[in-house]
Amino acid sequence: MSKISSPEKTQEYLERFIAGVKKRNPGEPEFHQAVYEVAHSIFSYIADKPHYHDMQIVERMAEPDRIIIFRVCWEDDEGNIRVNRGYRVQNNNAIGPYKGGIRFHPSVTLSILKFLAFEQTFKNSLTGLPMGGGKGGADFNPKGKSNNEVMRFCQSFMTTLFHHIGPDLDVPAGDIGVGAREIGYLFGQYKRLTNQFVGILTGKGLEYGGSLIRTEATGYGTVYMMEDMLALKKDSFEGKVCTVSGSGNVATYAVEKINHLGGKVVTLSDSSGYVHDADGIDADKLAWVVDLKTVKRGRISEYAKEFKATFHEGKRPWEVECDLAFPCATQNEVSGDEARTLIKNGCIGVSEGANMPTVQDGIDAYQEAKILFAPSKAANAGGVAVSGLEMSQNSARISWSEDELQKLLRDTMQGIHDKCVEYGEEGDGYVNYLKGSNIAGFVKVADAMLAYGVV
Ligand code: NDP
Repeated sequence: MSKISSPEKTQEYLERFIAGVKKRNPGEPEFHQAVYEVAHSIFSYIADKPHYHDMQIVERMAEPDRIIIFRVCWEDDEGNIRVNRGYRVQNNNAIGPYKGGIRFHPSVTLSILKFLAFEQTFKNSLTGLPMGGGKGGADFNPKGKSNNEVMRFCQSFMTTLFHHIGPDLDVPAGDIGVGAREIGYLFGQYKRLTNQFVGILTGKGLEYGGSLIRTEATGYGTVYMMEDMLALKKDSFEGKVCTVSGSGNVATYAVEKINHLGGKVVTLSDSSGYVHDADGIDADKLAWVVDLKTVKRGRISEYAKEFKATFHEGKRPWEVECDLAFPCATQNEVSGDEARTLIKNGCIGVSEGANMPTVQDGIDAYQEAKILFAPSKAANAGGVAVSGLEMSQNSARISWSEDELQKLLRDTMQGIHDKCVEYGEEGDGYVNYLKGSNIAGFVKVADAMLAYGVV
């Protein structure tokens, strides 16, 4: 008999567990939010599986293996010495080397990186590839910095980080504020410090060990997840009006794939507001946005002037009527009220390209309305899946063709979708993708931890 087999006992145990997490990790709201969201699904699943309780598996998963925090000093173009804080959270390596992105953004805190590393552990497990979970970054703002300043920052950051990463230990990637340029500087410094050419970062340039379709994979994968959810309902993208937030890597490739599949995207955003283009953001307009964001490093408001769209300063796109919504900017960018507005306006599905973009109240609203909802750990796993394939190619010193990789990405997303259905079907035809992804991600990591004993 389980210790917590009744629903009341399960709830009591969950509340006690969360109280403990909050006590041990004070002032870390994003981390508490992420642990609660996962534990909520897991505790009912393990209610009749006492071995997980006896071995304190969930408690151990909510305690990172280790965290490295370090000073990053660098010199700006005026000769001033600047100081930032760097982090690497190595959350869990039960099923493979730590893997997860590096974020450079002024909002970076330990709480945000701990939530991301925790989520990453389940996401990586869902892909079926042998990758543990980690995340890192710094409170450095690359916006407005010259290339030389970004280079000096990246070199200083790697000068400490290189002690703690390696191809069989921890393989970081990009995330917000860390794109092709930053990965190049980071990899160059690693190579200089160690005199070794090994796959210690993913998202590398094609000339030096990168994989085809890594850049596209997260955005494409988020849309594939929606395509699979719609297909299960015998529906498709054809003619669907879509809102997308963000205008970075994930958002722009999501737009490209939605256009491919016959949908119409009417919004994009950045941290200053969103643009609404009722005519749709077609391939030419999208190419203009990519140039604006990656070459000119401009603001999305400029789109409104260029294409006679409207710009809504300080607002987010969820007030615009749509059939499908794709939050692809950042965490907690869809509030409970915004989720309810989406539903009221007829939105039938949400696929999360960003990490944890919807607050818990909003998730509850999606689930109560029983709309299609793919949580980030399932919907945006395509990026890390192709990163895993980049690691394999680096180890074998080979490069796979674009066709092979496109097929692997498509199959991986289908596999993730099907695992969510397996663990998330609720009997009345409704699939709880959140529950399904949490449990499917949990089982593999938990069983590996059981095999190791108490370590
Ligand atoms: P980018 O840096 O390329 O783009 C981020 C976008 O989000 C920008 O448009 C940025 O606007 C906007 N943004 C950032 N912070 C805020 C904010 N506080 N409010 C509103 N908008 C904001 O990052 P990615 O596209 O790579 O990442 C986007 C999301 O996807 C993140 O949550 C990331 O963790 C997640 N993700 C990314 C993966 C990848 O492969 N790149 C993989 C899995 C998840 P601005 O320019 O004004 O800052």
